[in-house]
Amino acid sequence: MNFSSRCSLGTLVVALSLPVFVGDHDLAAADDLANDYPLFVSTWPFGKPANELALKTVVGGGVLLDGIEAGIRLTESDFENASVGIGGLPNRRGVVQLDACIMSGKGHQAGAVGAIEGILHPISVARRVMEKTPHVLLVGQGAQDFALSQGFAVQQLLTSKARRAWEQWKAKQLANPPEGSHDTIAMVGLDAAGDLAGGCSTSGLAYKLPGRVGDSPLIGDGLYVDNEIGAAGATGVGENVLRYCGSFLVVEYMRQGLHPQEACIKTIERIARLDPLNVDELFINFIAIDKKGRFGAAGTGEGFQYSVTYPGYSKVLKSAALSSRSVGITGGNQPESVK
Ligand code: ASP
Repeated sequence: MNFSSRCSLGTLVVALSLPVFVGDHDLAAADDLANDYPLFVSTWPFGKPANELALKTVVGGGVLLDGIEAGIRLTESDFENASVGIGGLPNRRGVVQLDACIMSGKGHQAGAVGAIEGILHPISVARRVMEKTPHVLLVGQGAQDFALSQGFAVQQLLTSKARRAWEQWKAKQLANPPEGSHDTIAMVGLDAAGDLAGGCSTSGLAYKLPGRVGDSPLIGDGLYVDNEIGAAGATGVGENVLRYCGSFLVVEYMRQGLHPQEACIKTIERIARLDPLNVDELFINFIAIDKKGRFGAAGTGEGFQYSVTYPGYSKVLKSAALSSRSVGITGGNQPESVK
């Protein structure tokens, strides 16, 4: 596929003037993935071991959703990861509150938990919500009660390292969390049968208001899977994703025929046009795969790193990067025609 022939003129100009714009990922090569399944794409370099476990799980006989769940559980168990599961930075009161969701393209099923406390694997609770209840989203105490009823145990998720960071933040009385104090694992997958699935898990923004729920557990925001088209996931400042149904929008752009990477770029461009914030201040990133096994990602500012794994291949790649310089959008509700 010829990427440039499918770009808008504006995007093409940017792509030509800024070689890093399209990221490390070779879009033409991505069209050759048809026989390499299962395929897993996830956010950040810490997604790579998660993808690898997901691959192993499915190759070992698990279904796609087992792979997604196993991979994300690995990240949730990592004490060193300050933004997912145990070790995650707490809310303003020093309590770790976790958000997660899971979605199966087959049957269009979803489950999620928001602001759940004391449960190490919110991704697994989200799956139980999907499989064992007539609901999609449980929050707070209700989510924890449900987890307990399903045999999950409550444990302390605030590590001494995270507690120290929170105490330092409190002592400085900072209004906002320091930069880089949040991330998410969002993972999307495609199996050999052509079915798609995804999951997402995070401790959210560090030092958030108690009860704050971000984009990650919300279907269509932190994650969206459409078994006819593709799947997308998000990481970054949730408030800037969930006002736009970000992952849903990425999938809708793929429905219009865009390559997953172009769909991520288009979504950020659209958000940047509407949003009062400058594109460099949005801190939003998307990953996407389509039904054909093509993948891509885009992020604001410098872009971000994402992980791609399929049999015989596992790499951390750099996404397309959209800055106000490259996009020519400075925020402030600019209509599309102005661009
Ligand atoms: N999207 C997450 C949230 O807003 C945080 C992140 O991915 O950086 O809760």
